[in-house]
Order: sequence, then structure tokens, then C-alpha cells
Amino acid sequence: MSDCIFCKIINGDIPSSKVFENEHVMAFLDISQVTKGHTLVIPKVHKENLYELTPEIAANLFEAVPQIANAIKQEFNPIGLNVLNNNGEHAGQSVFHFHMHLIPRYGKGDGFG
Ligand code: 5GP
Ligand code: ZN
Repeated sequence: MSDCIFCKIINGDIPSSKVFENEHVMAFLDISQVTKGHTLVIPKVHKENLYELTPEIAANLFEAVPQIANAIKQEFNPIGLNVLNNNGEHAGQSVFHFHMHLIPRYGKGDGFG
């Protein structure tokens, strides 16, 4: 989609700090990190939210998540990790290209939750 920020990141029109990429999936650091290493995981096809994902897209995404989580663990050494997904404005979604937040946790006062 031409006016989608995340499609522009996939195309390289907007720069990002890439954490992972394969044929179907991309992961990059959130521009406004709630904790160090806060990462977004997105499908390369434009789908607005969870309801629009096909089983194949969902499978491709989740297949990559453990590898991405391990890369974050190695790089940032958190003591925990939250996986979060917002669907719809009222649930806190602000970018309407499906994404999962991987939020590394560092203990009390780490800025999240
Ligand atoms: P949502 O609120 O839709 O669940 O999450 C959208 C996330 O995208 C936010 O955490 C926000 O900081 C992040 N974001 C918005 N624009 C950009 C951008 O241009 N680059 C990156 N890396 N993250 C972005
Ligand atoms: Zn998009």
C-alpha cells in the first residue's frame, strides 16, 4: 500500500534498524522503544490487522518469531519478553499494517507495564 509506513520500510523507502528479514517477514526496532530492543515483526504483504491474516501468513510470521526473540535475547540480554499485538484504534493500533511488538523486559522500572 503506497501510503503505509511499514510498506515503505519493507521497500526501503523509509530507513529502519533491521533485526531480521526473510522472504515473508521483516523485523525492525520500534522508532519509539518502550524498552531497549523493542522490535516490531511484520508480514511483507500489507494486511491491516489480525482478522485479515491468512493461515499461511500467520504461519510464516510465527515461524520466524522464535528466531527473532533469540536474536533479541542475544543482543540485549533481557530477563523476560512480552509479545503484544493491537487490533483497531480502540485497542491502541496506530499503524494499520499488522505487527507484533516484541518487548524485552529488564525488571521493575524498565518502562513497560
Ligand atoms: P501500534 O500502536 O500500531 O501497535 O504500534 C505502532 C508502532 O510503530 C509504535 O510503537 C510506533 O512507535 C512504531 N512506529 C511508527 N512509525 C514508525 C517508523 O517510521 N519506524 C519505526 N521503526 N517504527 C515506527
Ligand atoms: Zn503496509
